[in-house]
Amino acid sequence: MNNYFIILASGQSKRFNSNKPKQFHFYKNKLLFKHSLEKAIKSKLFKRIILVVNNTKQIKEKFPNNVFVIKGGKERSDSSLIALKYIKRFRPNNVFIHDAARPDFTVKLLNNLIIALKKNKAVIPVINSNDSIKYKIKNQLFNLNRDNSFLTQTPQAFKFKDLYNLSIKQKNKITDEATLFIENNFKIKFIKGENLNNKITYKEDIKKNNTYFGIGFDIHRLVKNKQLYLGGIKIPFHSGLKGHSDGDVIIHSIIDSILGAMKKKDIGTLFPDNKNKFKNIRSPKMLKPIVELLNKNNFYINNLDINLICEQPKVSKYRDKIIKSLSNLLDIDKNLINLKGKTVEKLGLIGKEKAIACEVICSISE
Ligand code: ZN
Repeated sequence: MNNYFIILASGQSKRFNSNKPKQFHFYKNKLLFKHSLEKAIKSKLFKRIILVVNNTKQIKEKFPNNVFVIKGGKERSDSSLIALKYIKRFRPNNVFIHDAARPDFTVKLLNNLIIALKKNKAVIPVINSNDSIKYKIKNQLFNLNRDNSFLTQTPQAFKFKDLYNLSIKQKNKITDEATLFIENNFKIKFIKGENLNNKITYKEDIKKNNTYFGIGFDIHRLVKNKQLYLGGIKIPFHSGLKGHSDGDVIIHSIIDSILGAMKKKDIGTLFPDNKNKFKNIRSPKMLKPIVELLNKNNFYINNLDINLICEQPKVSKYRDKIIKSLSNLLDIDKNLINLKGKTVEKLGLIGKEKAIACEVICSISE
């Protein structure tokens, strides 16, 4: 098992549009580069793992003893050469080169590469393109034949000696090590790559994976001579909900759940009840700026689950109407909203029909 794994995490992320290199952004709850590093460690396939970064001070954690963090070079090819020179002293047989920007490869792919490397000098995972690729010669576009064109991925596996010898002679900038073998007419073994092993290139690639939850709760006392509003609609009932506004517990809970998911404090901070301007305000008017805030921050709602806690009115009677109203107010499909009714066995204020409460959980993504 004289295998070495080099993780290139020193890219400048020019296309990523952020001050921080993409390797140091969170992806699925971990820093991007850690997905590759931890997978390589857990696979137990590698004698040593080399993490190549721009600045070794960026790495504060302690890793297992077989992990080495070194400083890379200006371009990708410089970093890979620095790493190859670094591991030369250990006399490796096989070396894997991997871009930290591909966090989703599997250990099975590593195993397949090792098997194929037994009889080859270079093994590269490839997949077919789902998009049709064109190339341009003198302002004219040509179609690449899809059956003969492939997209290359990393990790790529090599016999150390061959890769090292080609790398120290290289003069041009290369985008991956397979290119070196192709340019020098060396035989490459192509194996099946993984469709989910995508490269994180743009900030949007990472963002779409961030999901947050927020919880909201509200309770209002029922009083005579007030109209009852729930979920933005009028409900015929003997009492209405007391409060500075119309007391719509469903909408107030939804607002707090959305604010919670966005980490934007709470409804009381946005609509203080000592401010006259919000007196008798209808709750849909309070929800509107929250939905705007959600859109402005590029969030969207995945779903809402609502518990309306009361003896009366019966939720089943108004469920469809309330959901339709909420779907309009939130501008989301009604299938993303669930409304449950919950009674409290006639206990306490709610059981005696003196109050109505509501709790909501909401999930949002960016
Ligand atoms: Zn309220």
